Amino acid sequence: MSESFDYDLFVIGAGSGGVRAARMAASKGKKVAVAEERYLGGTCVNVGCVPKKLFVYASQFPESFHASAGFGWTVPQAPTFDWPTLRDNKTAEIVRLNGIYNSLIDNSGADLFDGRATIAGPQLVSVNGQTYRTRSILVATGGWPYIPEFPGSELAISSNEMFFLDELPEKAVVVGGGYIAVEFAGILNGLGVETHLVYRGPHLLKSFDRQMSDKIQQGMIDKGVHIHLNTEISQIVQADGGLSVGLDNQADMTAGLVLYATGRVANTANLGLETTNVALANNGAIVVDEHFATAEPSIYALGDVIDRIQLTPVAIQEAMVLVDHLFGEAVAEIDYKGIPTAVFCQPELGTVGLSEEQARAEYEDIDVYVSDFKPMMQTLGGGSDRITMKLIVDSATDRVVGCHMVGEHAAEVIQGMGIALKAGATKAHFDATVGIHPSAAEEFVTMRDKSR
Ligand code: NDP
Repeated sequence: MSESFDYDLFVIGAGSGGVRAARMAASKGKKVAVAEERYLGGTCVNVGCVPKKLFVYASQFPESFHASAGFGWTVPQAPTFDWPTLRDNKTAEIVRLNGIYNSLIDNSGADLFDGRATIAGPQLVSVNGQTYRTRSILVATGGWPYIPEFPGSELAISSNEMFFLDELPEKAVVVGGGYIAVEFAGILNGLGVETHLVYRGPHLLKSFDRQMSDKIQQGMIDKGVHIHLNTEISQIVQADGGLSVGLDNQADMTAGLVLYATGRVANTANLGLETTNVALANNGAIVVDEHFATAEPSIYALGDVIDRIQLTPVAIQEAMVLVDHLFGEAVAEIDYKGIPTAVFCQPELGTVGLSEEQARAEYEDIDVYVSDFKPMMQTLGGGSDRITMKLIVDSATDRVVGCHMVGEHAAEVIQGMGIALKAGATKAHFDATVGIHPSAAEEFVTMRDKSR
């Protein structure tokens, strides 16, 4: 490194992507700094994937208590739920993970700055009153919840606040039809809150396979979530007993909490980007090329701030590609096709590859296999859940191009299916695979009759 630089790489933002890039660059002997103003681990660890999944687990216990009776268990008294215990145990676990992130950065040899960093020029970063010269800058500042402005919108909260509520309300309104809205609707409902999901469109989870999102919608209704489609909120006002929510097509509703889960925007405000040539898209996301280079040759960006696919494992993969291109062999590439994903709504969705609608548009002829059945647990445990599995096959090549599951453990099952699809598995490969019995997953290798 030339003497005139303090660092080879200065990473702004210690979320999933930033930390991975910093650690990998440091492991290659580079002089690396990471600055974080809020919390180590970013959205995923602090106000996203990790605490959300803990809340999902918590919200599933009532069904398990109920099912246990059919298996011979008697619970001596009706179980009760204590929100502060869950919230505070969750927070303690997140503090533990923050410590692990701290050690990971320390042990990698990178310098960690606890403060807000801003860009002061193409190769200058200021933090805690000092300005550092750096050969390259990585902007990995993530995203932030977006709440549209309307009368009373300041009374709504975002997913950030959901993790620290003083108390759970008796009734909640959740707005949106994407990942966060359906996940929190399931959590609140499971924890005993009367939950109303308000969505402006006609179908929840609109970017997913329609048959699967319809199953989820019905599953959520069966579990007690009140779903209001084609409905918009006109205003929120403070009222006796909570917040009065004005709806465009029905009577106002009073609720203790209104959660807006209406997307996330790139965190680029007041970062000093105007001192550089970095270009922003209309939605504020940083524009980068296939190797995460911005229009400013010394500045790179990845993760939610580039708004390609807002998923932790994607940011991590992007970080590995970037570091390989900056300091390694420059061979790693990222394939945004066939990324498996799960929505931890209840029932759960796991999916990889194309939806039926996308496959029909892309291929001349497809075969669709669908299986819908009761989970075995229900034979004695009761309950309303079903499992739906779906394979979409390109008729010309026999390749499986889409694989979807709604039901318990869908995320766990679909991760493995992701490998099969990545490897180019055909329906014949699925058919030649021996099932694991008794499991729900075996259905994926025993579907013989085309549904369409
Ligand atoms: P999404 O983009 O998934 O959904 C946003 C929802 O808000 C859409 O239904 C959208 O409606 C609606 N919406 C947008 N603007 C308005 C508005 N002005 N008024 C009313 N409704 C509006 O965003 P999320 O916030 O749910 O999640 C952000 C991202 O975080 C996800 O895309 C995902 O990548 C990631 N994430 C991943 C998770 C996982 O992996 N399990 C979990 C949680 C988040 P419309 O469709 O009509 O535009």
